[in-house]
Amino acid sequence: MATIPTIKKLRTHVPPLPPDKLELALQEVDRLAVSLSAREQIKQILKAAANENSETVEAVIASLPKDRQQIVIDLLLKLQQQEQQHTSAAAILAAGLTLLSLASFLAALVAQFQVTADEIELRTDMLLRERVNIWIKAITDEARACGCDRSGVAPSGADLEALRSMSEKAAQSVADTYNRDVQRQLNKLTKAVPDGDKDYYLRELRKWAANRSVWKSAQIALNTETQTREYARRRFWEMNKLTERKFIATGVTPTCKICVRIFAAGVVGWDYVRRNPLPAHINCPHYYKLVHKPKVDCKTLWVG
Ligand SMILES: [Zn+2]
Ligand SMILES: [Zn+2]
Repeated sequence: MATIPTIKKLRTHVPPLPPDKLELALQEVDRLAVSLSAREQIKQILKAAANENSETVEAVIASLPKDRQQIVIDLLLKLQQQEQQHTSAAAILAAGLTLLSLASFLAALVAQFQVTADEIELRTDMLLRERVNIWIKAITDEARACGCDRSGVAPSGADLEALRSMSEKAAQSVADTYNRDVQRQLNKLTKAVPDGDKDYYLRELRKWAANRSVWKSAQIALNTETQTREYARRRFWEMNKLTERKFIATGVTPTCKICVRIFAAGVVGWDYVRRNPLPAHINCPHYYKLVHKPKVDCKTLWVG
């Protein structure tokens, strides 16, 4: 896999302390009048937050269970491929516009790089196909966690509609952001180098698009996975009348304030789960699980 640059830290991130301050903070935690396990938890959070690699897309993917990592990486590669096709097609078309004046060329260049409605539709279809696969896998995993050897069934009706709507929203919002960023990037280029030739702007925009697609695709792939799983899990719990049970957030040590708060809540009821959804934000690798393995009738278990 290509190297994935660090994403911007969340504004609500627990402050990442430099080594000397971290040492002091850990000593202070030792003096807190809280339980030993709470102290350990706080120390782990401080240490994880101090690790600047804790929120790269790569690190988040690595924190997922092995079989889920592969799903995310496969989807990431597909998205990147699609993005590269888009960029090359745009570049070829843009190169054909060299007879235009510079101003018209730049306007046409942006238009070529921007994602069209047709492409959004294609991406929606692709994301929906992926979500259907992830749904089946997630339901199968939940059934297994209940001790049942049954496979998930492809979603239908309202569930299929919900997955389609998630896919549409994702494809649209990714395209909107991308289209805005292309314009912004070209403005930056022409401001920095006002007298560049057409080739220069084309080359630089291509370079920018290639770099950007790597980590954007990773984010989309990861989000598709975690969001779909959470939805499937919730439907599984609802349909199998497991919402009276107790739940707990799980996954790697959280480093942002939203997730730290959810972890600190410990064992919670369904109402809390509904009001505090996980994943809590982009790149959040956390999810809820049942505290105890429920006794279910495998024959009548709802699997989609
Ligand atoms: Zn978080
Ligand atoms: Zn999280």
